[in-house]
Amino acid sequence: MTLHIQTPLIESRPMSIAAGRAVWLKLDALQPCGSFKLRGVGHACETHHARGARHFVSSSGGNAGLAVAYAGRQLGVPVTVVVPETTTERAKELLRLENAEVVVHGSSWQEANELAQTLVGPNDAFIHPFDDPLLWTGHASLVDELAQAGFKPDAVVLSVGGGGLLSGVVEGLQRNGWDDVPVLAVETEGAASLHAAMQAGQSIELARITSVATSLGAKRVADQALTCVRTHPVQSHLVSDRAALQACERFLLDHRVLVEPACGAALALAYDPQALEQYRQVLVVVCGGATATLAQIQTWLAAAQ
Ligand SMILES: *Cc1c(COP(=O)(O)O)cnc(C)c1O
Repeated sequence: MTLHIQTPLIESRPMSIAAGRAVWLKLDALQPCGSFKLRGVGHACETHHARGARHFVSSSGGNAGLAVAYAGRQLGVPVTVVVPETTTERAKELLRLENAEVVVHGSSWQEANELAQTLVGPNDAFIHPFDDPLLWTGHASLVDELAQAGFKPDAVVLSVGGGGLLSGVVEGLQRNGWDDVPVLAVETEGAASLHAAMQAGQSIELARITSVATSLGAKRVADQALTCVRTHPVQSHLVSDRAALQACERFLLDHRVLVEPACGAALALAYDPQALEQYRQVLVVVCGGATATLAQIQTWLAAAQ
């Protein structure tokens, strides 16, 4: 038994028609905590639990924190999540629903994270949102499920924040012998830390994040993401916030699933008939995200017109 579930793999008829080729969806929005994060976070939490960890600490007010809270509740391990004052009521409410202790501290993630580090005792485990080999190994299970289903795509489309999902999917492709399957790595323009690093040929820290896709808002990607770019075919793509938000609305109509703009970024590329021209059948990782409401997405979209 794992903490994450095996998610559905379906062909999207509306997206296939829009893109002019077969578009398949890996529906990780249906993980019990609402995003793919449970794959890696669940694996990390189970590993630390088996080693005797008695308390999990996270500094993510987003989907990583939610996944830690879910994993802790399932394993019977108490969880503390330190979040900055900017965290939405909705996100705090979701964390409390999973019985996590929510500590609000500081005006930025950096400050919340500093306090979180001081709360990690000798028998505790700190669970990073994207930069940990345990996470990547857990995320790689997504590709194992494709292989088990006998479905080898011509390309994989996914969103990139800190690059944990990218690192895990590349690990999964490589461990299944699919070194020839390219990854189309999508970021919004205001959160393009992988794009900046690929342009510079080295790790770069963005001055600030200006995208509404807060789950993609890592100012610097994990070094492993750059290793992936060197050892695997990875193409960087950028979409506007507006395109990501429109993709969220369209996906809700097409598939009745509400996702965050972070996921809308990957969906926006898949809806674009030009972006996927070289490929016959494409897999889109529907990474999900639980923290945006429909009202919030509509408000952002109105402001982005
Ligand atoms: C965390 C997250 C991402 C980005 O994943 P990284 O591993 O940080 O690159 C994308 N979409 C959603 C919904 C997320 O929660």
